[in-house]
Amino acid sequence: MSKVGIVTGGGSGLGQSTALRLAKEGVNIVIVDVDEEGGNETVEILKEAGVDALFVKADVSNAEDVKNYVDQTVEKFGTIDYFFNNAGISGSGKYFLETDISEIEKIVGINLLGVLYGIRYVAEVMVKNGGGSIVNTASSAGVIGQDTVVTYSATKHGIVGLTKSLVAEYAKDGLRINSVAPGPTETPMVKSYFEANPKMKESAESGIPQKRLGTPEEVAELVTFLLTGKAEYINGEVIRIDGGFTNTK
Ligand code: NAD
Repeated sequence: MSKVGIVTGGGSGLGQSTALRLAKEGVNIVIVDVDEEGGNETVEILKEAGVDALFVKADVSNAEDVKNYVDQTVEKFGTIDYFFNNAGISGSGKYFLETDISEIEKIVGINLLGVLYGIRYVAEVMVKNGGGSIVNTASSAGVIGQDTVVTYSATKHGIVGLTKSLVAEYAKDGLRINSVAPGPTETPMVKSYFEANPKMKESAESGIPQKRLGTPEEVAELVTFLLTGKAEYINGEVIRIDGGFTNTK
């Protein structure tokens, strides 16, 4: 039987790349995103790749939307084996004391509450069905401190914490929960930003020991390894994928 996966933020970047990589393993996939155009585009590509796929529009910071994408997945595919809990946003890049409360609430809502709500409903199905595997997207900013990303960093450190603590409760029920912590990665958003600001790209690359940004395909490979049975005894880990960036901080 084909495995079933949910990918949040699957309409772009790391979510889209990972969905395509999972399709190579024959996984049927539900794409969750607020962006209908991106989500539908990914579903089309997945179908062309030969797997079954469904797009469910959802704002992951809304618990009812989250319950709905989980219910729709179970209705269509009967179960959930893999969950890439990935949707997230960055901030304005302002220093914390210049940040509006609305921005703080928005980042925490999507990056932290969205991740918790996702696990709350998905893990319920997984535990009932005998287990499953979850990978959350943290960040370099979830393992080191940096300026201009205080709220973002708080949410990503939060993801590291919930990953470890959930394992203490549910590993015995067949759940594996890990996180990835990518450094700057050339997703479309980052690419267009650096195309407009080439000096920023040079500066970012010079701070990375391997002297280049990561690629979405590299992150997708790691996430696929962690989600599937190849990583059966890896649980509660936060794996950095950043060309050595955070190890030199
Ligand atoms: P991206 O903008 O290309 O993709 C993010 C996707 O999430 C988009 O399709 C967007 O529509 C969707 N999304 C945003 N808010 C949402 C919401 N409320 N509900 C549902 N979907 C929503 O960005 P990306 O670089 O692929 O980022 C994916 C994840 O990776 C994020 O959690 C981000 O923090 C993390 N990350 C990215 C990098 C990087 O350099 N690209 C580095 C470290 C961590």
